[in-house]
Amino acid sequence: MSSLLRYSKRAFGAKKTYPKCFDKILIANRGEISRRIISTCRKMDIKTVCVYSDADKYSMFVDEADEAYRIGPAPTNQSYLDMHKILEVVKQTGAQAVHPGYGFLSENKHFQKLLNDEGVEFIGPPGPAITAMGDKLQSKLLAKKSNVSTVPGFLGVINDNAHVLKISNEIGYPVMIKASAGGGGKGMRIAWNDKEAAEGYKLSKQEALSAFGDDTIIIEKYIQQPRHIEFQLLGDKHGNYVYLPERECSVQRRNQKVIEEAPSTLLTPELRHKMGSQAVSMAKSCGYYSTGTCEFLVDKNLGFYFLEMNTRLQVEHPITEEVTGVDIVEEMIKIAAGHKLEYTQDDIKIKGHSFEMRVYAEDPSRHFLPSIGFLRNYHEPEPHPNIRIDTGVQEGSEISVYYDPMISKTITWGETRTEALELMKTALSEYVIQGVVDNCGFGLSICNNKAFASGNYDTYFIPTYYPDGYTGEVLKENDNYIIAITAAQVKNIIEHQTCDEHAEVKLFDRVFVTIENVDYQIDVDHTTETYHVGVVGGNERKSFEMSDFHLRYNSLIRFNTKEGSNSGKHLVQFTGVTNQIDYNWRYNGTRLKTRVYDQRQFDLKRHMAPPKVVDYSKSVLAPMPGSIISVEVTVGQTVEDGQELLVMEAMKMQNLIKSERAGKIKTIKIKKGDSVAVDSVLIEFE
Ligand code: ADP
Ligand code: ADP
Ligand code: MG
Repeated sequence: MSSLLRYSKRAFGAKKTYPKCFDKILIANRGEISRRIISTCRKMDIKTVCVYSDADKYSMFVDEADEAYRIGPAPTNQSYLDMHKILEVVKQTGAQAVHPGYGFLSENKHFQKLLNDEGVEFIGPPGPAITAMGDKLQSKLLAKKSNVSTVPGFLGVINDNAHVLKISNEIGYPVMIKASAGGGGKGMRIAWNDKEAAEGYKLSKQEALSAFGDDTIIIEKYIQQPRHIEFQLLGDKHGNYVYLPERECSVQRRNQKVIEEAPSTLLTPELRHKMGSQAVSMAKSCGYYSTGTCEFLVDKNLGFYFLEMNTRLQVEHPITEEVTGVDIVEEMIKIAAGHKLEYTQDDIKIKGHSFEMRVYAEDPSRHFLPSIGFLRNYHEPEPHPNIRIDTGVQEGSEISVYYDPMISKTITWGETRTEALELMKTALSEYVIQGVVDNCGFGLSICNNKAFASGNYDTYFIPTYYPDGYTGEVLKENDNYIIAITAAQVKNIIEHQTCDEHAEVKLFDRVFVTIENVDYQIDVDHTTETYHVGVVGGNERKSFEMSDFHLRYNSLIRFNTKEGSNSGKHLVQFTGVTNQIDYNWRYNGTRLKTRVYDQRQFDLKRHMAPPKVVDYSKSVLAPMPGSIISVEVTVGQTVEDGQELLVMEAMKMQNLIKSERAGKIKTIKIKKGDSVAVDSVLIEFE
């Protein structure tokens, strides 16, 4: 399995024999989940067929599948959502079953039926169970019937604006407005008053229609400060069920999960049993089989409310695999082939603790908006038996506008929660990702957060600790010293590399580094590798003796420093140099730019004019690449702070761009339908 994902032995187990299932499975998905399914199929000696769009022609999963077929251009409705094209490939290849992964067609009952009618097994629940559970409204109705507690709300379809306001007032604000067919946190908005309810209804409806092709809207009470806890269950076609221990997914941005853990720090064995059993009873009531996840919100008093059921394999299933040793994909395949579950509830034990971080190409300093581009430099954390990386990309891959900007799922396991958490910090610091902006630094900051580390957090965690997103750590003086001495060392390395081999290598004994407008002077003693560093003009100087300096992938730098309080292990990422003097870094998850000079350059610098600063304070810039859905203002119009300016669509999300100031509009540079790049000027104020 070495060419595939970096899996742990825990979930994938030692070699064993498997009951006869299928000879060939088609995987109707892409990226990391396709690779993950291929891994299990290989283990079980099942051949795999993948389908791919033009955008994925060079993807890893395409290479790794036994067979791969192009099904269309990049847009999902012409490829991964085109069930007839996929069926054609099924017929052509003779695949006996289809694994839909998550997203795309995984919860689509028409796809299930289409396959069934052709005698092809859908590796998932039966059609009627998808109908009963796949939609938030229907599943809540069913939960009520099975005596499972649900979030209070209106169990019906909302017709129009007046209806929204009536229902919202009956439930009482705050309310949650949701697309019944929604998923991935999309098509969902909180409303605290009539105005927000009307606005939320409009946007959620639009978003639901474009993302899910179904604009049914439901409204429910907004539960304050809840924890999101979910149970994945397995059921076979013979009526046997087990629930797997829970995952806590309360760290969310835009109602979408960022870091998950298993088990939850909140549950007692009794509560676990109670919630898990309710999940099973719901599944039983609709003849469910395969795997599925019941999501609950748990309030401060440990009251729990059924939220929805995801009738598929979930993104975060690996952490459950890590703590139970159950390969969930293997179980899905065996169940689909008609085999009985080999587990009873008593066989399911929790061993250790596991975390998953969804490493995304997104910018935590810009409302977590996707960052697209090529992975110019990409290196995963150093191999470790307790670090599992589920990814679909490698160096050179493109993160495109067409699909979720996921880079990897980074999963750690430990005997204890602390051990697993520490390992996550290591993994996230070792990631080298260049070419797109990523959220590793943000993840690292979460892992270092006291509330998170203590296990006492809820879904308000990100809004509470990161109300404006994450812009990086504030570096301390000692951090600046570490960066400064690393910069001096890197400058010498670069100089060394560019010298022709016969020339005498002249190392710099003195280097100047500017960090945030402060100039540091570093004097280097090359015989002892001692760096004396201090602020130019200041009196205080510190000395660091550097040892074991390693530079990997031209970017990941590790070294140790000795001497009194300055001793320690350091990990600094050098992310490139431009114009010879602009050095870019990543340190403790924070990106920073420095300027690095030798004595001559530093002397010259004092005579140079300061760089020109462009004033963007009167402009509204595009916070992400995307297309303009509508423009709500006109030239000459006076707008208030917070007023709606335009709606942009990016990654299937409708994003309302509001004014961050009051003023009169001077120019509008875009119109409906335009595609815009990130940071382009959309609107200018007078
Ligand atoms: P999980 O609960 O497994 O984390 P999410 O709800 O975050 O799952 O969704 C997983 C993926 O599936 C995301 O990429 C999301 O965009 C996509 N997705 C979820 N539901 C749907 C749906 N109904 N239609 C299309 N894509 C969906
Ligand atoms: P999706 O299908 O997008 O996963 P969910 O209904 O599962 O949608 O909700 C996703 C997240 O949104 C939840 O984990 C929770 O944080 C938040 N959420 C959803 N409904 C409510 C609610 N009624 N009250 C408070 N938070 C909610
Ligand atoms: Mg959900």
